[in-house]
Amino acid sequence: MTTALLLSGGMDSVSIAWWKRPEHAITIDYGQRAAQAEKRASAAVCAALGIKHHVVTVDCRALGSGDMAGTVPDATAPASDWWPYRNQMLITFAVMKGIALGVRTLYIGTVRSDEGHRDGTKEFVRLMNDLVQYQEGELKVEAPAIGFSTPELVRHGEVPDNILAWAHSCHKADLPCNNCRGCNKYIESMAALSEAA
Ligand SMILES: [Zn+2]
Repeated sequence: MTTALLLSGGMDSVSIAWWKRPEHAITIDYGQRAAQAEKRASAAVCAALGIKHHVVTVDCRALGSGDMAGTVPDATAPASDWWPYRNQMLITFAVMKGIALGVRTLYIGTVRSDEGHRDGTKEFVRLMNDLVQYQEGELKVEAPAIGFSTPELVRHGEVPDNILAWAHSCHKADLPCNNCRGCNKYIESMAALSEAA
């Protein structure tokens, strides 16, 4: 069965790349501010693990909001890193690419702590899987780490430090700003991991 991973280059998807070793990884440059760093991190991890890496570029900045788009968040935004329909958009681009590669399962990097956004819930993953299967048949969408926090995923997957070191988590910039939700999550996860070690 051919598998692919939607790879942003953040801690969660990097850990899944190591743990699940998909045949393909797909990184989307949708105009997010950290796109260059995310593509660099993703390419490095794929090279280290022998995963075929594909970059899909679709400029969606005109439809973004907040930290990731480099704009003032929409009045309706529930969080500074909210981008309307973001995961729905990314999964759609990834399966559009994946179907041409013969992919049967697309892994996405959702973890338990993402459930604060509706597109980070188990119900969302189920609905996306149902929709993708309903539309084109055989392609499944799975979130193998959805029951884990990020530190639990790193430990469960036994992800080595030299792989994790490639991860890029900042939502705002190519160099970590240390002051956004992505950076804060990275800092908290690394602290939890070093406490447990
Ligand atoms: Zn940041």
